[in-house]
Amino acid sequence: MYHRVSDVSDGTDPWSLCVSPTHFEEHLQVLSRQAHAIPLAHLTQSFKRTRKRQVAITFDDGYADNFYNARPLLEKYGHPAVFFIVSGAIDSQREFWWDELEQIILMSDRLPHTFDLTIGKTKHHWDIQTTTDRCKLYSALWEILSKLGGSQRREALLHVAQWANHLFCSRKSHLPMSSYELRSLAKGALFEIGAHTVSHPWLSRLPALEQEQEIANSKQYLEDLTNKPVHRFSYPHGDQSDETWKIVQRLKFSSACTVVQEAVMPNTNPLLLPRFTVSNWNGLDFEKNLLNWLTQNYET
Ligand SMILES: [Zn+2]
Repeated sequence: MYHRVSDVSDGTDPWSLCVSPTHFEEHLQVLSRQAHAIPLAHLTQSFKRTRKRQVAITFDDGYADNFYNARPLLEKYGHPAVFFIVSGAIDSQREFWWDELEQIILMSDRLPHTFDLTIGKTKHHWDIQTTTDRCKLYSALWEILSKLGGSQRREALLHVAQWANHLFCSRKSHLPMSSYELRSLAKGALFEIGAHTVSHPWLSRLPALEQEQEIANSKQYLEDLTNKPVHRFSYPHGDQSDETWKIVQRLKFSSACTVVQEAVMPNTNPLLLPRFTVSNWNGLDFEKNLLNWLTQNYET
């Protein structure tokens, strides 16, 4: 599971989402030597036929760097990949909210020394003196904002920006894909587009109807945009309830990915596929981790 292929040149990457293009190319070279990169669509079926070292590459969220940095390298090595897209972010000239929050809290030259925020009936207060305080504030605000609905979150983020005297200015390096980029990506024979909801909520916290809208609307939007069926899904934050995967099944997705760090086994539910997070490792470290992961499904 990858998110971004980019150098950390214009930010702090608090979630370690970035793998540098140099390291990503090293990963692809290791995959060519040590494994068979196959489309996610083939992973569960072919597992039953062969015990080859099979790997499926996935990307979550739909950052434009997937198109500009990952795509050419995947094509160079002939490795397939699936891109799970937050459909509500397509064509947005704004960054994802967690990146805007990073700009405000972690990149501002100066912040006031105290911050108060009221969400519903809950009052929050922070003292910010040191860099550690800033990191704690970022994590706390991320937790709070990630649980809010779209409009409430926008309101809270605006409040944070006003407190910090921050003017929103999107970094080109952090933008989501445009519809042109997404359509071009979808045309590539190696690539598949999957759904990742409209607004990237914690699905299990939503009523069933809203969950269904988030999932179905993102699928429909991506199908209309790319003119191709969307059969694969990735749960934002890996979060789902029994209700969620039943919706995913009802909407006829053939596979759906979580963030559980395990190898796929023959008896794995295709609608709850585990994935390993790939960090910004060099080729050697990636190889060590890959071999370790592959051993997990070899030995059982
Ligand atoms: Zn995501």
